[in-house]
Amino acid sequence: LDLRSEDFSELDELGRGNGGTVCKVLHVRTKTVMAKKTIHVDANLNVRKQIMREMQFMHDCNSKHIVSFYGAYMNGGDILICMEYMDVGSLDKIYKKNGPIPMDVLKKITYAIVDGLIYLYDNHRIIHRDLKPSNVLVNSQGQIKICDFGVSGQLNKNSVADTFVGTSSYMSPERILGSPYSVKSDVWSLGITLMELALGRFPFPPDGGSLAIFELLQHIVHEPVPTLPDGKFPANFQDFVSKCVAKDVTARATPSELMKHPYLVSSLTEKVDLEKWAQSQAR
Ligand code: ADP
Ligand code: MG
Repeated sequence: LDLRSEDFSELDELGRGNGGTVCKVLHVRTKTVMAKKTIHVDANLNVRKQIMREMQFMHDCNSKHIVSFYGAYMNGGDILICMEYMDVGSLDKIYKKNGPIPMDVLKKITYAIVDGLIYLYDNHRIIHRDLKPSNVLVNSQGQIKICDFGVSGQLNKNSVADTFVGTSSYMSPERILGSPYSVKSDVWSLGITLMELALGRFPFPPDGGSLAIFELLQHIVHEPVPTLPDGKFPANFQDFVSKCVAKDVTARATPSELMKHPYLVSSLTEKVDLEKWAQSQAR
């Protein structure tokens, strides 16, 4: 199915990131509501075409924990990415509006993210590269899915978005230092994300003050990792998070190791009404 600008009618603006804007749109002919992300790519036509080719693999990304892809097209210097619309929105907006995510729900969210990361890596050798609360989306059926992963090598080099992902405060110490990085970098980002969702605030710096981005990155590289307050959270959650935010890469878990951690193993037998939770968070 070929997507073109003329075929959409705009319904709402969903948000703005560093790279562009995301709108809720209706694909009129098929009556499909989608989320359409506009990314301005500062590169020549050949590079943009290369990006488009690399993005085609997203049609083969089928997992219940990955946001579905409808297609992408070019319009002038912009690349438009059309994806599944997630009506409850992203976890950053949810916790900022309603407070820290309850522990039982957070465990199901963790399972979904880890399963999504394993899917991307095992099947497509993809490292997410930009895992953070705003890239974890929820719909009113209670489904939890990740989006905005590093599909295109070209896009990572050329999009305005990635220039800013380059200074994301969820980056692992090794990435901040410009060292080689692996899927374990995503695990670091997961750990920071979980602390943020459990605490209801970004965990750096530990005193809750604010730092400019450069000082923040310095702090992440040079200071000890913040810990969750003692006694407030279950011990297996504390341990799980500590396995994610180990600064030493060799001490950090891989996504598959996380899946075997008692914290996630226990999630398999727990019943949580995610649909009810999601509906209670609706925008
Ligand atoms: P960021 O992820 O850095 O916030 P984005 O441009 O990727 O920036 O997205 C902006 C906002 O749009 C997100 O914070 C999220 O709330 C919303 N959003 C993105 N994709 C979707 C989607 N598929 N469905 C619903 N909301 C979305
Ligand atoms: Mg995003």
